Amino acid sequence: MADYKSDIEIAQEAEMLPIFEVAKRAGLDEDTLEPYGYTKAKVDIHSLKDKPLKGKLVLVTAINPTPAGEGKTTTSVGLADAMNKMGKQTLLCLREPSLGPVFGIKGGAAGGGHAQVVPMEDINLHFTGDFHAIGAANNLCAAMLDNHIKQGNALGIDPRRVVWKRCVDMNDRQLRNVVDGLGGVANGMPREDGFDITVASEVMAVFCLATDLKDLKERLSRMVIAYTFDQRPVTVADIHAEGAMTALLKDAIKPNLVQTLENNPAFVHGGPFANIAHGCNSVEATTTALKLADYVVTEAGFGADLGAEKFLDIKCRATGLVPSAVVLVATVRALKYNGGVPKDQLADENLEALEAGMPNLLQHVSNITDVYGLPVVVAINAFPTDTKAELDLVEAKCNELGVNVALSEVWAKGGEGGVALAEEVVRLCDEPSDFHFSYELDGSIEEKVEAIATRIYHADGVDFTPAARKQLKKLTDLGYDKLPICVAKTQYSFTDDPKKLGAPKGFRITVRNLRVSAGAGFIVALTGDIMTMPGLPKVPAAEKIDVTEDGKIVGLF
Ligand code: ADP
Ligand code: MG
Repeated sequence: MADYKSDIEIAQEAEMLPIFEVAKRAGLDEDTLEPYGYTKAKVDIHSLKDKPLKGKLVLVTAINPTPAGEGKTTTSVGLADAMNKMGKQTLLCLREPSLGPVFGIKGGAAGGGHAQVVPMEDINLHFTGDFHAIGAANNLCAAMLDNHIKQGNALGIDPRRVVWKRCVDMNDRQLRNVVDGLGGVANGMPREDGFDITVASEVMAVFCLATDLKDLKERLSRMVIAYTFDQRPVTVADIHAEGAMTALLKDAIKPNLVQTLENNPAFVHGGPFANIAHGCNSVEATTTALKLADYVVTEAGFGADLGAEKFLDIKCRATGLVPSAVVLVATVRALKYNGGVPKDQLADENLEALEAGMPNLLQHVSNITDVYGLPVVVAINAFPTDTKAELDLVEAKCNELGVNVALSEVWAKGGEGGVALAEEVVRLCDEPSDFHFSYELDGSIEEKVEAIATRIYHADGVDFTPAARKQLKKLTDLGYDKLPICVAKTQYSFTDDPKKLGAPKGFRITVRNLRVSAGAGFIVALTGDIMTMPGLPKVPAAEKIDVTEDGKIVGLF
């Protein structure tokens, strides 16, 4: 295999335009920009408030991945560049990276190869400070909650039933479970507590679903933070924290504008987890982009069983948005992985395993077309390790089954490598579609989880543990049963077992617990062990990251 430049090397060679020029390309007036240096800006979208949405929305999702990720972000960036190259005015909407993965295993999240958003070091490290603002708002709420208990506890909050956690944007397993408030009467009420990573906080989910400041404040005020001794929910409104929390978020909520390597505009804003939250960028950024551009390309986290399902059943339902086309990213590597090849042998040609992994791809395709009624194209994200025989086989199989397919070489070639995909996407955007959700809101919580499990995962049914049953009754009694469902499940499998790859049949899903995110507006159904505070690996990516004496960042991949 030839030597390739690293993502950061390519990114640092980019010739960036001043952010004012990028804004012009996006159709934004200069006076809407709040620049953060020369190549980043926040956009004050107030003046766009009454502008109608004109663009067509393109959702990028993927098959069940390998642990390394299959290139949804890379494909999204390259597709947007390719569409702009074709003369189709296109805006890109991505999530902001979390520091956790940057310092942990996965590395950066600003695309890869010749399909990246820049300045990639800034975007990956702090960016415009949004996540710190979200952390501060979250922790203000925690401080006010514990202060309420310390100052006499007029609400009767049961310190054992505080469900609100503190957060920090770091992979820090040491903080998962802590005892705080130690040191005697003057230092608070001792209780068991814990931290989540900021991207797993409900404030992040609320931030990404809010339509404006007013809606943001209303959602924050609805969040359930504890239960009283007599088991009534306590909300943010009960401790009067929503105003100050909104104040901390008032600038963060403005979408961030940056550019691709090919100087096309991109909004990078918000970044909720795709397990206990809905996993896509902010509604503010997506709707603003749809007011400005003819096409908007956006990505949903994880595979289509989680990311696309939540994008369609939660975000689209909350906003009324409907994608005109869906791009399903597949790689030869992930298909081989789904066909049973271990992680360390994915670089070797294996046509048999590749074919054995195809049912995973086909099940995602039929979910999008048959369950949701949307047109889909498979984007084969070509890796340098793929052989021609392997790439040809995937294409031939798709053609044989009447599945739209296009080879994408954006990682190696930038926008030029995505023209075939872009042409197919533009064609699909003009096709009629018949969108419907995978479930309606008026069913019971059980019925809704059952619908997702049987229709999207192709499970035989759902089992609720006794703890989950108890929660089910409690949340129903409290009147939260008409919310949509956000399933927290492994991203590696259609099932709740990360080892069952491909398109398994004859399995059931086990829901171990349920909780309400009343501000975000969904019920989280937890399957398996879901981590809301990751840890660092034995050799963290952070060990390789450094900065030279003249301030250049190196080792960030
Ligand atoms: P996802 O959004 O699906 O998690 P990313 O686009 O972030 O995936 O890509 C994950 C990693 O894989 C990145 O480091 C990226 O540089 C790399 N990558 C993506 N596509 C390719 C490709 N075609 N060839 C080689 N590496 C790739
Ligand atoms: Mg991504």
